[in-house]
Amino acid sequence: MVIKRVQRFFYAEVVRTARISPSLVRVVFSGDGLPDYTSNGTADECVSLYFPGDGEDRPPAMTEKEGDWAYHDIDEPEHRNYTVRSWDATAKEMSIDFVAHEGGIAATWALTAAPGDVIGLWGPRGWYDPPTGTRWQLLVADLTGLPALSRAIEELPDGFPVRAIVEVLDEGDKIPIETNADLSIEWLIGGNGQGPSRLADAVRDEPLPDGPLYVWFAGEAAASRAVRKYLRTERGLSNAQFETIGYWRVRAEEWLHKYEAVEDRLHSEYQQLIDAGVDEADAENRWEDMLEEAGL
Ligand SMILES: Cc1cc2nc3c(=O)[nH]c(=O)nc-3n(C[C@H](O)[C@H](O)[C@H](O)COP(=O)(O)OP(=O)(O)OC[C@H]3O[C@@H](n4cnc5c(N)ncnc54)[C@H](O)[C@@H]3O)c2cc1C
Repeated sequence: MVIKRVQRFFYAEVVRTARISPSLVRVVFSGDGLPDYTSNGTADECVSLYFPGDGEDRPPAMTEKEGDWAYHDIDEPEHRNYTVRSWDATAKEMSIDFVAHEGGIAATWALTAAPGDVIGLWGPRGWYDPPTGTRWQLLVADLTGLPALSRAIEELPDGFPVRAIVEVLDEGDKIPIETNADLSIEWLIGGNGQGPSRLADAVRDEPLPDGPLYVWFAGEAAASRAVRKYLRTERGLSNAQFETIGYWRVRAEEWLHKYEAVEDRLHSEYQQLIDAGVDEADAENRWEDMLEEAGL
């Protein structure tokens, strides 16, 4: 279930960048617009980043109509979703960690970002929402989910038992996570577009304790679907006990091509569910099933 609260458009200016591991580039933003940013407080707080087009030094700004910030009157520029790794409300600085993968407007932009560059930012949203009374957590991610996973673990109370499984590409990507929680972490090397992900199998191998627990997964869409199915149908977890989010897709271009052929039909089926009052989480489960049935 998406956690929204106030969502707005901001301009964000690059202050500095750093290669924090072989696969991750950290970009720190500030600038005139950002002081008004308000965190939604979720560990997987996400913003949509809008990139300048050819010949532009910044993307066009969104406008607000009746509280809704959007590109109401012009085409929406290219955008991608990224996690707020940290928001320093005193210094008014936001850090975002980008996976330095081949191709893609966002990864390419991050690899060449320099102080003074400006992008647009809309948000925030979030999904990580353990129910009150949760006594144990399993957090699973690839490189794209590592920023949110790290933030979730850092923010857990002292001594809270948490198990983490993270798939990275290089030994150097095993970035230490500072926490007073009772953390047990397993690092896998592979996946992340360089080979098949082992995360879904790792989740299957993981014993889940009795009692109130919460599972959160962020990574490649096919792995996310496999984990969601396993938790829902084989482990019988309730919608509130887990969240699985596909952060990206292997060979996204091929998928998009196939998706566009069935998009209208699937959207109208989904809308019928919502109109019939189906719970948002159940509708999301059904949406995943519909995609799978369509070979997507
Ligand atoms: C809620 C949310 C939070 C996210 N947080 C982060 C974050 O903090 N850091 C982060 O790096 N990503 C994050 N992502 C994932 C990011 O949005 C995608 O990886 C996005 O597709 C990257 O855009 P791009 O323009 O670089 O590549 P695209 O134009 O989308 O894709 C170009 C090509 O690269 C491939 N590709 C895309 N992403 C990857 C990848 N990670 N590894 C290998 N190949 C890839 C595609 O299959 C395609 O072939 C998040 C996604 C969501 C939904």
